[in-house]
Amino acid sequence: MPSQELIDPLRGALARLLAMITPGDLKYSFFAASGTEAIEGSIKLAKMYTHKSGFIAALKAFHGKTMGSLSMLGKSDYRTPVGILYGGPVFHVPFGDADAVERQLETSQKVGIDIAAVLMEPIQGEAGAIVPPDDFWPRIRELTKHYGVLLIADEVQTGFGRTGKLWGVEHWGVEPDIIAMAKSLGGGVMPVSAFCSTEEIWQCMMFPNPFIHTTTTGGGALACSAAIAAINITLRDKLWEQAAAKGEYLIPKLNDFAKRYPKIYENITGKGLLIGQHFQNPDIGYKVAAGLFKRGVLVAGTLTSAQTIRIEPPLIITYEQIDQVLSRLEDTLIDVSRLL
Ligand code: PLP
Repeated sequence: MPSQELIDPLRGALARLLAMITPGDLKYSFFAASGTEAIEGSIKLAKMYTHKSGFIAALKAFHGKTMGSLSMLGKSDYRTPVGILYGGPVFHVPFGDADAVERQLETSQKVGIDIAAVLMEPIQGEAGAIVPPDDFWPRIRELTKHYGVLLIADEVQTGFGRTGKLWGVEHWGVEPDIIAMAKSLGGGVMPVSAFCSTEEIWQCMMFPNPFIHTTTTGGGALACSAAIAAINITLRDKLWEQAAAKGEYLIPKLNDFAKRYPKIYENITGKGLLIGQHFQNPDIGYKVAAGLFKRGVLVAGTLTSAQTIRIEPPLIITYEQIDQVLSRLEDTLIDVSRLL
């Protein structure tokens, strides 16, 4: 069991590595096991630093299913059965709409509801690889600074190269105040997550009581060594460049399918290897997913509906494998179009 009193050398090395590779001045990290814990920690840190309790999140956002994260999540399916969630105010605005964020910040200020942070995914993952307009992240960075509100980037899904940059926010050159990561931090196999922030913000978690945020198993030696190895491979093989190039190869071919099968597809979205296929209705999406599954291709639904199916292969997928996916997808589309 890792000690809470002593610093494990591997934990220190991992924190140092993250300080080196995260955007801007992000410097301190806390380690846990799951993405949702990284979000919980981010929420808590933002509250403690700002002494405010309101949050602005996005419709269709996914941040995890523990109570704090669930409060930020933007789909009723998971929230309604639970009932009352986080005690402070949480406002949901359409993702990618910087004007809506601005209006909410302005309104909250006018009515005296203090906002601690804006929390968003750089590219929405579970919503179906939704890419915001190019000015969205720069504008919400500007707005959060203007209103004295923190900006939290949930990079649990987008982090470590998946979208074609090491971090999703790098597409727009934005430096968030807090970043949450998980999934690929453990190479996709080891439960390890982190939230990171700047020295200035982190002070409130270090002083006066460094035990204000702890977890017994988080930051264990095994998890940290796996994360160090995952980062090493990510940097050594420049996996984000691979994701960018493979996305540029794959996405136009999917767009071509979307054009050729308009009764099946609505559109294709995404960046790098975080790709969403949006279908005309959930039934068609389900049929395509089932046809692919039958042909040995595993795709990711979006938990609430089969209308959108994600393609999120390992970043090391070969071009030969991508071609196989495309050919099996085309066979599936031919089959499904016969049923329509
Ligand atoms: N945030 C994002 C963007 C996610 O995609 C997920 C999981 O899919 C989470 C948070 C929650 O992570 P976990 O399932 O490890 O709790």
